[in-house]
Amino acid sequence: MNYISTRGACANERRTFTDILLAGLAADGGLYLPAVYPSITPDELEHWRNLSYADLAYEVLAKFCDDIPAKDLRELTRRTYTAQIYRHARESEKAEQITPLKALGIENGAPLYLLELSNGPTLAFKDLAMQLLGRLFEYTLAQSGAQLNILGATSGDTGSAAEYAMRGKQGVRVFMLSPHQKMSSFQSAQMYSLQDPNIFNLAVTGVFDDCQDLVKAVSNDHVFKAQYKIGTVNSINWARVVAQIVYYVKGWLAATQPAATKLGQTSGPEALPKVSFCVPSGNFGNVCAGHIARMMGLPIDKLVVATNENDVLDEFFRTGVYRIRDAAGTYHTSSPSMDISKASNFERFVFDLLGRDAARVRHLFHQLEANKGFDLSGSGDFARIHQFGFVSGRSSHQERMATIQQTYARYATMIDTHTADGLTVARRYLEPGVPMVVLETAQPVKFSAAMREALGRDPERPAAFAKIEELPMRFEVVPPDAQILKEFIAAHTG
Ligand SMILES: *Cc1c(COP(=O)(O)O)cnc(C)c1O
Repeated sequence: MNYISTRGACANERRTFTDILLAGLAADGGLYLPAVYPSITPDELEHWRNLSYADLAYEVLAKFCDDIPAKDLRELTRRTYTAQIYRHARESEKAEQITPLKALGIENGAPLYLLELSNGPTLAFKDLAMQLLGRLFEYTLAQSGAQLNILGATSGDTGSAAEYAMRGKQGVRVFMLSPHQKMSSFQSAQMYSLQDPNIFNLAVTGVFDDCQDLVKAVSNDHVFKAQYKIGTVNSINWARVVAQIVYYVKGWLAATQPAATKLGQTSGPEALPKVSFCVPSGNFGNVCAGHIARMMGLPIDKLVVATNENDVLDEFFRTGVYRIRDAAGTYHTSSPSMDISKASNFERFVFDLLGRDAARVRHLFHQLEANKGFDLSGSGDFARIHQFGFVSGRSSHQERMATIQQTYARYATMIDTHTADGLTVARRYLEPGVPMVVLETAQPVKFSAAMREALGRDPERPAAFAKIEELPMRFEVVPPDAQILKEFIAAHTG
């Protein structure tokens, strides 16, 4: 499997999965994608029905990373996707399914489901990819004898998912910046209660933007970055995208009946039942994995992109205009993990939409960087958007609250604010006979203030987190000063 950049610069170089594992952007500023997508056949889907999640993950990953020996890759997936790690399933007997599919009911003739992706250590879907990344990093660093120091900024979900994935891993340290006293007590306790010596929590006396600026300042010091082996784990990381493809396959298998597909039938995906997925979206990482699953041949009908009030993606899928927002135009909402001004993985889809024309992608995204937008509305490319299955919608605070209330009343199921955005938008695209799977991206306990507003009560909290705020906390308070940060890193590596 050879990897290329969406902007075309390294088209003649060969890059393998492990080559790009530790890389962020390609040298030309583009994002990595496989030179061709591997395929999933109807026969494979049928044979995969009885596999454990870990073995299904192996089958999907093996198509993308042929430079890790099969035996090692299988062991990695088996150690990553265990009932012990995904033990926060609300129905504990379902923990071994890793991503249980929960039937809500039939609405407008469509079977409506939630795919539970948030039963891992930090109660959000990012664990599914990040936990694998932790194992892959440890594995490849051990092979090369190298070290990696991950530097990141977080306002909540990504930072904790990264820390729980990297804790105790050989060769890896994490330096995670968070705004001092600006996160919920549950979120800070999740991160700060980790006592692992390779995890460093730095509480910056400032806001989230100050944390991000510090990461940029350190990363732009190329000498320091190289000397101290600084890396990141943000959502453009290709291995994270690949890991997310697995649960679309798992969700499709769970939402379709074996009887509906005939063993040995090879007449193509038309013969198989289709399933739609609705994805609460921010940086377009999660739904990008759905897009790739569909390109590989997984019979997906619609990919519904759900946004909150930060509707840059919904605007594009409705109009063809991609208009990134400035700070003043980016709102703080009650589904904060979707509060983005531009979607960092979107370029991967644009590359496919434009028929993989890297020169045009390069042109568009240079234009984007210069003046904040581009417009494909009049182009033939945008007319083809529905061939890719994409539709979209946006949800507001009122709709999110109403959906949480209704889902609790009607289905006795408590969903978080992000999942509520997904369910709100999914209902606009129900079609009789086509299962609609809404991806559940977090558990309600992470957003308890909004849950109290919706339901007038505290959200359910998995037993393991009962007293997390009372645990001893380990963090350093630091000023927003890049020099002090560099000194801290230098003093704690070596
Ligand atoms: C990160 C996140 C999202 C958005 O996912 P993207 O891959 O950035 O589109 C949605 N919901 C929750 C809870 C998240 O943590």
